[in-house]
Amino acid sequence: MKVVVTRKLPDSILHQLREEHEVMMWKHENVVMPRDLLLEEVKDADALLTNLTDNINVELYEHAPNLKVVSTMAVGYDNIDIEEARKRGIKVGHTPGVLTDATADLTFALILACGRGLVGAMDVIRKDEWKSWGPFYLTGPEVSGATIGIIGMGRIGEAVAKRAAGFSMNILYHNRSRKKEAEATLGATYVSMDELLQKSDYVVLLAPSTPETNKMIGREQFDQMKKTAIFINTSRGTNVDEEALYDVLSNQQIYAAGLDVFEQEPISANHPLMSLSNVTALPHIGSAAINTRMKMAQMAADHIVEGLAGRNLSHEVKRKG
Ligand code: NAP
Repeated sequence: MKVVVTRKLPDSILHQLREEHEVMMWKHENVVMPRDLLLEEVKDADALLTNLTDNINVELYEHAPNLKVVSTMAVGYDNIDIEEARKRGIKVGHTPGVLTDATADLTFALILACGRGLVGAMDVIRKDEWKSWGPFYLTGPEVSGATIGIIGMGRIGEAVAKRAAGFSMNILYHNRSRKKEAEATLGATYVSMDELLQKSDYVVLLAPSTPETNKMIGREQFDQMKKTAIFINTSRGTNVDEEALYDVLSNQQIYAAGLDVFEQEPISANHPLMSLSNVTALPHIGSAAINTRMKMAQMAADHIVEGLAGRNLSHEVKRKG
């Protein structure tokens, strides 16, 4: 059967797929497969190994009458029309779990970078502006002992909470449902969204992108945060109203933001948010640790082997959100 792979992956990952099937792989690792080529290649494809930059929508399904499996190399699947796949009997696989620690590490790196002003401090050296030690020179808020509020206490949220516990942080969280186990093991406290926003020194967003979470952090939510609050988003850019974020950061209504994800990716260097010194921005590298990416790629390839053999996928997306 034919498998289309929309990014260049290592041969070792595709070994089994190639033994069993015909693989058409896009030649670039860091360039999106052109849409017209993708639509052309899926015409006779049985499976698609994709990632978060491909829009897997009705248009694509219409071009791919034989498609049986869509396997994304990501845990988030907001770029895939799950309902439409279900109607057409197409199985969708994703890669939960294997990227949890790497993404939690990166989230915590942003917490530390924003709290202690690491990027601005390095700029001081780069610009040769470091003149002396000063009692309050380049001081920032504490991380240890501060209050962290995690919105979306799932796999990654819990892994961030685990790290926060190591920094003696007071851990608050908000989900649609309580997680009593996390409360017991991590000492986390379930609070309403309002309480979390009002009490947290670090507000960390880790909920998936769904119709319900679209722009869930906007003007009303920022207005409730402390003036000293630091906002971290490693979930999806669509979960945040970026205009409101720009306003509250530019007039110092909140202290800083650490962002790994944006409404439009790649974000342009000319985007207003990039002009602010209290923004630390990263190009969506939450899971970008080598072993993690290898595991994600392998899991995504395995899902296609499973699906084309008529078996259930080890990690199948069953419902939207
Ligand atoms: P997960 O285990 O499914 O956790 C998501 C959590 O969000 C769940 O606990 C869920 O709890 C909560 N949630 C869902 N809707 C909510 C809402 N409306 N309000 C409040 N909480 C809500 O997923 P995960 O593996 O931790 O991944 C989380 C997200 O991180 C992914 O969906 C992806 O978008 C993002 N991500 C980003 C990167 C990166 O590179 N930056 C890497 C990996 C993942 P309830 O159902 O109880 O509400």
